[in-house]
Amino acid sequence: MPIVPVFGHEELRRRLAVARARGALPASMLFHGPRGVGKQRLALWITQLQLCASPGDEPCGACQHCRFVQELRHPDLAWYFPRPRLKDSDPDLAEVRDDYAGAIAERVAEGGLYSPPSGSEGIFIATVRALVQQAAMSPALGKRKVFVVGDAERMVPQEGSEQAANAFLKLLEEPPEDTTVILTSSEPGALLPTIRSRVTSFRVAPVAPVAMRSFLEHPAVTKRLKGERVPVSQAERLAFAAGAPGRLLWGAEWSMAMDTAERMLASVGAQGSSKRYDEAWQQASSRARGSFADTLDALSAALHARARDAASRGSERQALGASKAMEAIELAKERITTNVNPQLITVNLLREIEDLLA
Ligand SMILES: [Zn+2]
Repeated sequence: MPIVPVFGHEELRRRLAVARARGALPASMLFHGPRGVGKQRLALWITQLQLCASPGDEPCGACQHCRFVQELRHPDLAWYFPRPRLKDSDPDLAEVRDDYAGAIAERVAEGGLYSPPSGSEGIFIATVRALVQQAAMSPALGKRKVFVVGDAERMVPQEGSEQAANAFLKLLEEPPEDTTVILTSSEPGALLPTIRSRVTSFRVAPVAPVAMRSFLEHPAVTKRLKGERVPVSQAERLAFAAGAPGRLLWGAEWSMAMDTAERMLASVGAQGSSKRYDEAWQQASSRARGSFADTLDALSAALHARARDAASRGSERQALGASKAMEAIELAKERITTNVNPQLITVNLLREIEDLLA
């Protein structure tokens, strides 16, 4: 069964296809953009375009190379992403390969859909070693080989592993002529500068609403959502996803973020600052950066609903306050991509929202 196709990103795909046709596609690339926006899927698409026997603006979709990439079983495609640490503290290459083969089989069974990695999953040094070794070999089936490394900021440096790390940097800097390496990251700022300086960056922008809705209608997506216990309306889902198709699948994450957002809004004004600080502490102590970003999106959606209600009641002042608060959230979102801590951002944001909603 082929995996779910790419939705959206038409302009970037066009640019990449033009570069490929001219032979000007960089050998080491970084796709960065919001979580769940489809960076790894896009990387698989450009892999397919590069391996396709008769590519145009799009891969032909019919040749053996295309079919194998779409089924994630092309021998010249290597896809790495964060995985739980293997039990063996120093696993050999065969163990690493088995682990990824299993993980990819799971993804194939789900039409290429998957959940975001948990906080403890990483790209450990044994994986980097496997990748570097694979890069030294010739393509098995076609003329090129392509490496896709998802969530590349999760590469874990380890003491005593300098050799593998250096070999990886060298691979990025001077890939063999028949090799392309594509890293993806939603936190490019967290990548080592030595990595960032060796790749050509492409920003992957949010997907338009019409493509988001088509994604929701794809059979593999509806099948996956059917098994979900958290009832979330389509409108809520689309608001949370904010142009990132992958996030349409995160119903549980969304309800958790909504709960936190509602609690925060309830704390605003009602009990004054002590409750607010509690929220902020809670936010900082237990949450990963990813879910903090989700909470801000949820806050935005909750305020959007308030603004709409206020406007329908004819309360212009409240509607304006809510939309100004949404702007403040947008600013806060920008701040989390730098290294300001979530706790500080939350305290300031809630103070601001309180003033605006007063
Ligand atoms: Zn093809």
